Amino acid sequence: MAADLPVVAIVGRPNVGKSTLVNRIVGRRDAIVEEQPGVTRDRREFGAEWAGRAFLLVDTGGWLAPGETGLTTEDPALAAKVSAQAEQAMRDADLVVLVVDVTVGITAEDASVARVLQRGDKPVVVAVNKVDDDRRETEIWEFTGLGLGDPWPVSALHGRLSGDFLDALVAALPPSGDDDAEPAGPGYHDGIFSVAIVGRPNVGKSTLFNRLVGDERSVVHNMPGTTRDAIDTVVETEDGPLRFIDTAGLRRKSRVDESTEYYSLIRALQAIDRADAALLVIDASDGVTHQDQHLAERVDAAGTAVVVVLNKWDLLDAEERESVRRQVENRLHFLSYAPVLPISALTGRRANQLLPALRNAEGAYHQRVPTATLNRVLRDAQASHPHPIEKRHRPRILYATQGAIDPPTFTLFTTRSLSTQYLRYLERKLREAFDLGPTPIKIRVRRRGE
Ligand code: GDP
Ligand code: GDP
Repeated sequence: MAADLPVVAIVGRPNVGKSTLVNRIVGRRDAIVEEQPGVTRDRREFGAEWAGRAFLLVDTGGWLAPGETGLTTEDPALAAKVSAQAEQAMRDADLVVLVVDVTVGITAEDASVARVLQRGDKPVVVAVNKVDDDRRETEIWEFTGLGLGDPWPVSALHGRLSGDFLDALVAALPPSGDDDAEPAGPGYHDGIFSVAIVGRPNVGKSTLFNRLVGDERSVVHNMPGTTRDAIDTVVETEDGPLRFIDTAGLRRKSRVDESTEYYSLIRALQAIDRADAALLVIDASDGVTHQDQHLAERVDAAGTAVVVVLNKWDLLDAEERESVRRQVENRLHFLSYAPVLPISALTGRRANQLLPALRNAEGAYHQRVPTATLNRVLRDAQASHPHPIEKRHRPRILYATQGAIDPPTFTLFTTRSLSTQYLRYLERKLREAFDLGPTPIKIRVRRRGE
């Protein structure tokens, strides 16, 4: 079993705290760890588990030849040796954790290891160690200079923040290999942006789908979906492939029960689970119904990007159009980030806006924001509109990182909790600054003592 586990190698120059960090993870009451017997003495390897993912943690300290582990930073050969260690980690591991020391900053050895890791194709998580107190947290920015993404502050000695760090680590692991059983997540892992066309029966999903596929005059593959009877369609567009999930029912309506409201809801929910974006199709001639609302809530909860389509626009006069737009604002207010496209799938009017809207959604959903810019935007937002409360009680955002994409997820480290209103304000600012239009974003707040 152990042979199948992803291997996480901890690299870094001596004295940054690699062993301490390994011991910290190993020693966590809530991380399940066991020492693996039978491995060579100089490669310390531990089975560990976090958030339901098991992995092998390898302390590469032992990869330096015996006697070399006590090297000091003055040793001229050190950079070469530490780089060699990183090279081996790249070969043997599925993920590499580079440990650096906040009290020292970026050294020549750190930089040379970073270059090795940049060249490789393995994911890297940067742990900035010895961040023993809040004061140091702002200093971690320097380490974005390693060119390996957002650094994670940890204090291996005191166990600070290692939960967040472990979250990031587990998130960067390759998808689990036991695909015979359930795949790691319900989604696809081939990088093709996947769209679920959802909506009540007869709103015009098939018409829309055929138009999307037809307009592209493109190569269309039939691909078996992840469930046995689901057929997906992958369309080649100018901007790359796009997958429409579970299109069997959209191509040919064979079974009577497929047109029942219940059946279509179940199928829609299954498709949304695997989707990166949802095209929520509404029959504008019916207005926004309860069923539309219900589906929209599920789409919102799934955290996919959303494009709202008001179909059959051709059937409405000016007054009705105005009324439907108001209904969207009121009844779908929780989807206010989603673009709303009035179209006619039947006549093709404005249907050419759909693909660009989906591509836009794709960009926003995958958007990764540079940490320095993120922090600048939040600083400016606070400066121009401080949290409305008496100054000495005012929460401050110490710094922020984007912990994940798909959808963009931001973690704000603050001195006190933020009001919901203020969070909404910040969300709006982030959306404006980073063009996050059609995707939901998640903001997590972690409080730090003052
Ligand atoms: P390695 O050579 O990279 O494995 O580093 P070690 O784990 O042996 O740690 C080197 C030194 O840094 C030891 O004296 C540790 O006690 C110290 N150290 C490790 N982690 C921390 C930390 O989070 N904060 C502080 N202040 N010291 C640490
Ligand atoms: P589905 O059940 O959601 O897949 O809906 P269909 O695509 O089968 O469409 C249901 C009916 O609505 C069909 O009679 C379509 O011709 C009609 N329809 C679809 N789109 C439009 C549109 O934009 N305008 C009008 N007037 N009718 C449409």
